[in-house]
Amino acid sequence: MSSAHLVTNIGSLVTNSDIGDGLLGELHDAAFVMENGFVSWVGSASKAPDCDVMTDVGGAAILPGFVDSHAHLVFAGDRAPEFEARMTGEKYTAGGIRTTVAATRAASDDDLRSNVRRLSAEMLRSGITTFECKSGYGLSIVDELRSVSVAREFTNEVTLLAAHVVPAEFQDKPDAYVDVIMSDMLPKAKGIARWVDVFCDDGAFTGEQTRRVFTAAKALGFEVRVHANQLRAGEGAAIAVEFDAASADHCTHLTEDDISRLSASNTVVTLLPGAEFSTRSPYPNGRALINRGGKLAIATDCNPGSSYTTSMSFAIAVAVRDMKLTPAEAVHAATAGGARALRRIDIGHLGVGAQADFMILDAPSYVHLSYRPGVDLISSVWQVGTERYSKK
Ligand SMILES: [Zn+2]
Repeated sequence: MSSAHLVTNIGSLVTNSDIGDGLLGELHDAAFVMENGFVSWVGSASKAPDCDVMTDVGGAAILPGFVDSHAHLVFAGDRAPEFEARMTGEKYTAGGIRTTVAATRAASDDDLRSNVRRLSAEMLRSGITTFECKSGYGLSIVDELRSVSVAREFTNEVTLLAAHVVPAEFQDKPDAYVDVIMSDMLPKAKGIARWVDVFCDDGAFTGEQTRRVFTAAKALGFEVRVHANQLRAGEGAAIAVEFDAASADHCTHLTEDDISRLSASNTVVTLLPGAEFSTRSPYPNGRALINRGGKLAIATDCNPGSSYTTSMSFAIAVAVRDMKLTPAEAVHAATAGGARALRRIDIGHLGVGAQADFMILDAPSYVHLSYRPGVDLISSVWQVGTERYSKK
């Protein structure tokens, strides 16, 4: 049982739907009504219907909750020394992941669970109302399965990333590890994970190995997403399109052909500004992708090695400054773009029928998220029509 709840006196409402203006479907002096956790009416505050419950936000901006379509939260330990060494001049490689694998294997289920709980609480305070969560620090049958099981306690968007790096015990026989993924891990993860991801890059998995994993995954009914072209212009982006991946993530190094292929496909390009920031790497050219018709998402890539942040506002600010997105494009990518990267139509917007997931800003406009970098502007976060976080 739930009564109609009017949220009104919204100075700027980002709807990401065609009822408002521009890319963000923005309405001014707006209101919306929620019933049973879903948006049932949106429009001008002066035309809002009477409701049993009313929240007056005093002219603040409201945005759909951020959809974080790329995060690695199931791990133990941290890698602050590695970060410090990198900032002292060492180069980032995929090999550092093995440090976290050792700590994760040694951790109890409860240790892993409390890490996900801590980080997902941070995400909520950062305005993230839906997040994807990958395994990938277990790299054994038992540790990958407990990783996806722990992730599933916190989100439905669970990804088996057993093909993150080749574990040390398979160092000299990576294809044998791929065989284990295909014959044991995929069937056992079915029903727990929705997605299968492969890190297709130098120091991780080859194009051929990626194709083998994806062929087996799709035969079992998994949907796929790819860590593609982060460290160099390899085959990852092309394979993403070939397998109708929901998303090709990173895409720091793309060829002209990659951009054309991605733009003509259903595959979203997910930019992860925290990764380039934290590895002091060149940023992908988001502007070129948008100009060529690419569909973009922005995600945190929260992980202990290369992007230890849960702040989507930070990712937006970096995407605007260093990937050349406009403030509106960055907000769109972090909301509707993330939803598209998870192939969801019920989230990432505030049109009629959307799940009532949103944030209220301590600011009059979404522009402030990139205009005031590093400032926590999120005063309240709602999920399915209920306030789940309030700064007050
Ligand atoms: Zn990642």
